Amino acid sequence: MSVTNFTTVSASQAHSVSNYHRILHFSGQNLRFSRAPEPSAIILPETKHQLSSSVICCRRAGLEIRVRCGGHSYEGLSSTSDHGASFVIIDMMNLNRVIMELESETAWPGRARTVGVGGHISGGGFGFFSRKYGLAADNVLDAVLVDAEGRLLDRESMGEEVFWAIRGGGGGLWGVVFAWKIKLLKFPPVITAFIVSRHGAKRRLAQLLHKWQHVAPYLDDEFYLSVSVSAGFPDGKGDRNGVSATFKGLFLGGENEAVSLLTGAFPELETREEDCTEMSWIESVLFFSDLGYGSSIDDLKIRRPKENLYFKAKSDYVQTPIPVEGFSKIFDILEAEPKGFAIFDPYGGAMARIHDDAIAFPHRKGNLFNIQYMVSWKEGENANSEIYGDWIREFYSSMTPYVSSGPRAAYVNYLDFDLGTVELISNGGSSRDAVERARVWGEKYFLRNYDRLVRAKTIADPNNVFRHQQGIPPLPSNVEALTEYDWSLDKSCRHSVIWPSQLKLEKN
Ligand SMILES: Cc1cc2nc3c(=O)[nH]c(=O)nc-3n(C[C@H](O)[C@H](O)[C@H](O)COP(=O)(O)OP(=O)(O)OC[C@H]3O[C@@H](n4cnc5c(N)ncnc54)[C@H](O)[C@@H]3O)c2cc1C
Repeated sequence: MSVTNFTTVSASQAHSVSNYHRILHFSGQNLRFSRAPEPSAIILPETKHQLSSSVICCRRAGLEIRVRCGGHSYEGLSSTSDHGASFVIIDMMNLNRVIMELESETAWPGRARTVGVGGHISGGGFGFFSRKYGLAADNVLDAVLVDAEGRLLDRESMGEEVFWAIRGGGGGLWGVVFAWKIKLLKFPPVITAFIVSRHGAKRRLAQLLHKWQHVAPYLDDEFYLSVSVSAGFPDGKGDRNGVSATFKGLFLGGENEAVSLLTGAFPELETREEDCTEMSWIESVLFFSDLGYGSSIDDLKIRRPKENLYFKAKSDYVQTPIPVEGFSKIFDILEAEPKGFAIFDPYGGAMARIHDDAIAFPHRKGNLFNIQYMVSWKEGENANSEIYGDWIREFYSSMTPYVSSGPRAAYVNYLDFDLGTVELISNGGSSRDAVERARVWGEKYFLRNYDRLVRAKTIADPNNVFRHQQGIPPLPSNVEALTEYDWSLDKSCRHSVIWPSQLKLEKN
């Protein structure tokens, strides 16, 4: 097998340690994994055929594969392997073209700002327009998947079960998605956006949030109103010991209608026209980005985050309104750790109308909102960084009475190893035991879709080539022995490979 028409990283670049580390850390978002064991090599395919041969070469070499797109995995899954296996990162950064097919109103996108479509859509992809149009994965019409044999499969050739699984069943498990075909959505020319922060007495804020949960999931589909809560204030002003609630609103229409709708449903928020700005859809993406005042739409192409931080996240689903006392407790907890916050994302609308097994993502009807708990910190901020992990786990534990149970559901895009990890089985095999062990987190992420995902995995990847610490194992099959392979001799593997200096690279 040979690869043609590819661009290679120049020999001088490929041989430089600093280049290897620059590429390795380029898109790694969470500093918690910056000192993890490094990959044997990073492959940067530029075509689907290079991608396909990359998979084949890694398998022949007995190297585990980590696929990286935006590098946002909350547990570093796209760039680490914590059980000591040799691994390679296949980084999709050069496969970033977007092809628009206006006649059919579809597109084949590459990525958006720092989050990559590879992982984001694989896990579902909730966004500001999900109450109107569902998840990103709900809008996928087709895909090109490179499977463990290096075959390029479209929807028809991968089959409906695998196509079902790759939409919301989690990244890095089914093969490598070379491209998604997504439905283009039409937005009105004028969109209204606002961000308002409220602070003051904890009891008053708790009452505001209590009302929010009775409003936000039931607003018109055109309205998205999330709230994030934290200690201190987002603008850095005011009483640093206080707590605040920041509401982000987006309405598919003009500001008069937005304010009138919100004043009717949620007068306690006291939204005024001055709080709102009318803009186009793309301006709203910039408005809610982390880029800050004075940035331009062009800056959305900048891939690097403004600041890399250490962070740990967890998630929950709320199905029964939380009492005011529950919200007061949340503020007590947040006050104790100024580096922590929680984001409440309203569901309802299209999210509730789409069936829970339409795609692999299952959290639909009956969910009022999703909670994302987050704590982030900087290098050297506290010698004992474990305090942040302990704090967030305690926060999560104290929320038990208020959130879903049996199982306690979680969102796979907010990956959380606290839910359990698997001891990987050598040579990629599986067993019934592995399927049961993975059920511990599998049913939290996928509820009753878990067993169907196991069956889809058995079809898509029976040898469990695409595996990780929180994977979905296939049903037991004949385990294929992976042999030692000298891939430096394989010409098909020479494209765009970045090696660390200690590895010998055979020159072309
Ligand atoms: C700042 C920030 C904002 C976020 N906002 C949202 C949000 O609004 N809504 C939401 O739903 N989520 C959000 N997330 C979570 C995000 O969707 C997930 O972390 C997602 O997994 C990131 O995908 P990625 O490609 O950027 O990350 P990566 O780390 O590159 O990939 C994540 C996982 O997907 C796999 N993967 C990546 N590319 C491919 C591919 N081409 N084929 C197969 N597997 C692949 C990786 O191996 C890994 O297991 C946010 C995350 C961050 C850090």
